[in-house]
Amino acid sequence: MTTPPPTPDLPTLPPAGFALRSTYTELPEALYQHVSPTPVASPQVVLLNRALAAHLGLNLAALAEPQLAALFAGNALPAGCRPFAQAYAGHQYGRFTFLGDGRAIVLGEQPAADGSLMDIQLKGAGPTRYSRRGDGRAALGPMLREYLISEAMHALGIPTTRSLAVAATGEPVMRQQALPGAVLTRVAASHLRVGTFQFAAVKDQGAHLAALVDYALHRHFPHLLAEPDPAQRTLHMLREIAARQARLLALWQSVGFIHGVMNTDNMAISGETIDYGPCAFMDVYHPDTVFSSIDHGGRYAYAQQPPIAQWNLARLAEALLPLLDPNPDRAVEHATQAVHDFQPAFITAYRNTMALKLGITRQRHADIQPDADLLADLLAAMQQARADFTATFRALADWADSASPAPAWIAPWLPRWHARLAAQPGGTAAARQVMLAANPAIIPRNHLVEAALTAAEQHADFGPFFTLLLTVQRPFHATAADAHFTTPPPPPPPGACGYRTFCGT
Ligand code: AMP
Ligand code: MG
Repeated sequence: MTTPPPTPDLPTLPPAGFALRSTYTELPEALYQHVSPTPVASPQVVLLNRALAAHLGLNLAALAEPQLAALFAGNALPAGCRPFAQAYAGHQYGRFTFLGDGRAIVLGEQPAADGSLMDIQLKGAGPTRYSRRGDGRAALGPMLREYLISEAMHALGIPTTRSLAVAATGEPVMRQQALPGAVLTRVAASHLRVGTFQFAAVKDQGAHLAALVDYALHRHFPHLLAEPDPAQRTLHMLREIAARQARLLALWQSVGFIHGVMNTDNMAISGETIDYGPCAFMDVYHPDTVFSSIDHGGRYAYAQQPPIAQWNLARLAEALLPLLDPNPDRAVEHATQAVHDFQPAFITAYRNTMALKLGITRQRHADIQPDADLLADLLAAMQQARADFTATFRALADWADSASPAPAWIAPWLPRWHARLAAQPGGTAAARQVMLAANPAIIPRNHLVEAALTAAEQHADFGPFFTLLLTVQRPFHATAADAHFTTPPPPPPPGACGYRTFCGT
């Protein structure tokens, strides 16, 4: 493939540790578009993640403030940068659509310290071929929200795309009302989604799909390249993607994270959480909790997330069918098996994650069912009492001590749990340590997120946002002084609709 000319229209920045590659554009041209960000009126850096920049080998100190603003708003490009937008498809609420980066532009892939490539992408950087009727832009509030929640997820130890910067554009974006515009710089292990494979499968059953699988193998599963048979390699990849999703979903469930828009274009094959539109953390425990204002049927409710992940994997398996076996029946057999395997993998990952949250350090085979019952009974009691998910699990470390006061609703459950902890090596003391490391005290609570975003967006007061950001970055280390962040809001009255989130497009 011929190398496209360097982007002529935007100024180039002095070297600052960028070593961007565009390996993605070595794939068939149908899969991407070369496109540059559209410059904005008056860029200004609002947030900058210096720790993440250092991790990427960037030396941002080499850039003056206006250069940083130009970089993170898309008004100037790092030297050697050949930006592009990716094509993809997706099942949105179950319906298949052609999509693509309608408001995101990948600046390139930065080699990380371990040799892997990390996508650096500007979100809200202007229109692309895939913008459809959108303006290619983003509003400040949702970009701040993505920065905050993705960094909170990272601090919780949950695989996620990261946020490197938010730059205000100085331009309004027109939604229901005029809102301040912004660009988010997202860092991801890649932006390969289930929908990327769906796109390639529909575009060209053969060559595009095979090239994309090969690319994904090199990028995320290089250990599978030793397998000489391409069909086997593809099957192994599918299995590994399913295993990563199983682990990811167990982690989401364990902290009450509700993604809100698990369309197949929002599932990354790297196993990272991607797309922080309408997501939110559950306060009061209820398995049917939904926050997204457009998820009327509860398709993406808390308890639906694992089966939806499996549904998405089935769409990936379908897309990969032509590569899984020359015999179509056998291809379907392999695909079906790989998708089925998600469920036991999820159950195991969930069991292990939740065991630690209960302070259970050792689970013998005979413990599995009684421990599952113990957890189910706790969750049922929480639901009945409308107890806060995060605060309840955090308090378990205190309630492990039978002398410490616990609320009446949990009292009937405690003795069986106390006996379980006492019977394991290390007893209650070891269990407490495990629980304090497994149960976060601090999550980005919905009411605090809203208050911080309102102050920032409507009053240009970033104080509450910065304080909240610093706090959610230490989820397991709370003191009495953090009561503002750890105290749940009062539950909404029964029947009230409660917190609502929006896609932020
Ligand atoms: P999302 O809901 O963020 O997953 O986006 C779904 C699709 O809509 C993706 O293809 C986005 O790139 C596209 N999109 C969202 N907002 C805009 C916008 N303001 N302009 C153009 N495309 C957009
Ligand atoms: Mg998306």
